[in-house]
Amino acid sequence: MRRTRIVATIGPASESDEVLKNLVKAGVDVFRVSMAHGDIPSNLERLRRVRAVAPDIAIMVDIPGPKIRAGSFGTMPVHLDIGQAIELVEAFGETSTAERIAVEREGVLSQLKPGDRIHIGDGGISLVITTVGAHTMAEVTSGGAVVGKPGMGLPSSILNDRLPTDDDRARLEALKDEDIDMLAVSFVRSAFDMVSVRSVLSRDDVMLMSKIETGEGVENLDEIVAVSDAIMVARGDLGVRMPIEEVPHLQKLIVRHGIRYARPVVVATQMLESMTHAQVPTRAEVTDVANAVLDGASAVMLSGETAIGDDPVGTVITMDRIVRRAEASFDYAKWGASLELQSSVGHANQSTRVTAAITGAAWRAAMEENAVAIVACTRSGMTARAISRFRPPMPIVAITPSTATARQLRGSWGVDEVVLSPSHDIDELCDVAVNAVKKAGIAQPGDPIVIMAGSTSGGAQVTDTVRMLIVP
Ligand code: PEP
Repeated sequence: MRRTRIVATIGPASESDEVLKNLVKAGVDVFRVSMAHGDIPSNLERLRRVRAVAPDIAIMVDIPGPKIRAGSFGTMPVHLDIGQAIELVEAFGETSTAERIAVEREGVLSQLKPGDRIHIGDGGISLVITTVGAHTMAEVTSGGAVVGKPGMGLPSSILNDRLPTDDDRARLEALKDEDIDMLAVSFVRSAFDMVSVRSVLSRDDVMLMSKIETGEGVENLDEIVAVSDAIMVARGDLGVRMPIEEVPHLQKLIVRHGIRYARPVVVATQMLESMTHAQVPTRAEVTDVANAVLDGASAVMLSGETAIGDDPVGTVITMDRIVRRAEASFDYAKWGASLELQSSVGHANQSTRVTAAITGAAWRAAMEENAVAIVACTRSGMTARAISRFRPPMPIVAITPSTATARQLRGSWGVDEVVLSPSHDIDELCDVAVNAVKKAGIAQPGDPIVIMAGSTSGGAQVTDTVRMLIVP
């Protein structure tokens, strides 16, 4: 049983029925469709295909926000060498070359000044602006090879658009009736950004995930996490917009914020990057994946490795092995015991404070009595997520009336079994729980299990009951 989830990005290398099925077998919990590549119809077709092949797996759609891209460099690597002079032009649908980069955004070049830095792709290549005016010229200060349509990291002051951008609005409109579970929102810089995206999408059956990838996103982390359903440490752009040596520490900070608010946190980008083409990852990558697990990530994500890599299934199998081994070294008791302090901060309103207190009580009872399972009866998934942040060593079983919640819980750490049941009656739910843990082979007669359930109090659904049962 692996508790930390695996997110795999789907692209040309992984969208056939056969590869999708093998990815599910290899252990993918969430498929990610990034709308940064391709047009709206082709992305809708991709996510429908994924849904048809994997009806039980969560689908996360990622909208790119104000990301500026370069016109395509083509499929063969183009080398940009240190010291080389390159002209930047604003142009759409044109190719880029080693001498001339097409910047696919109007009005950007006039805002640049000499000395500004521009990063190409996920930070490996950088340029410095040397001349502005009739021609905008730059010099390569850190070289490398580039393919396709890389993102361009420009100074933050140029990323002025509020969310959702006009392009994202069109994407959200197109997603209104699609069968998706999560929406990852790029370049979130304030709570207002998330509130705006939520009101345009106007669906309460889709979890909204904030991608933290700018300095402002980090500065406003607390307010952003409070209005988001999940968080992503988007290390690619984060490492472009913040000093690269900050990335490991920001990862820990963002994960802790997610835990505090009981929001799933995905650690993303370059986790097994070398496996895009190599059969074995670097030692540093293996250590990075293991450290993300030990930091408390709910999920680890693969991007290009599964979207365009040589062996998407082999990469997921490798990630699964690394995660399982890291989990064997995770100190579950210590993690849960140290959580009390963190958990009090993020719960402003009374109903979530009650859920926090009840899940704390459930965790303690389960640990002291060596319960074999913790069962969360949950409509929205919140109770399961709130107990999940304690990282209990025993399985978490969620009982929910909602298929949407069941799939969304694929993105939450350690929710090992999900049972659909329409009941609201606590005694009936206890029977469902007992049958579920017996059927799953988790519990034998005489084993203690802990059950949490809720009621509607003052109009709000509150988890207000914790019971310990001995399995008959
Ligand atoms: C990132 O920047 O790390 C990220 C996940 O975003 P994207 O892959 O959409 O660029």
